[in-house]
Amino acid sequence: MRCRTVRRILIMESGGGYVLPRRGPFGRHLERCPCCREEAALLRKEARVLRRALAEMPLRPDFTRRVMEAIRGRGRRP
Ligand SMILES: [Zn+2]
Repeated sequence: MRCRTVRRILIMESGGGYVLPRRGPFGRHLERCPCCREEAALLRKEARVLRRALAEMPLRPDFTRRVMEAIRGRGRRP
């Protein structure tokens, strides 16, 4: 597996909040390639910082009501 493919998988992982099993060609590449391991660590750290920042962000008091209205509104649209 090439670095480019590994980087794409790593970016997908960091955006989705899931971690693919480190088996097969993907895991073997990460074991052997220090550049991709470094990239993986950096992306994990960035995702952690982002999750923490979003968790600390205060929601508007009417957030739930607005979301529920938006969901109900979608059902009525043609
Ligand atoms: Zn690599």
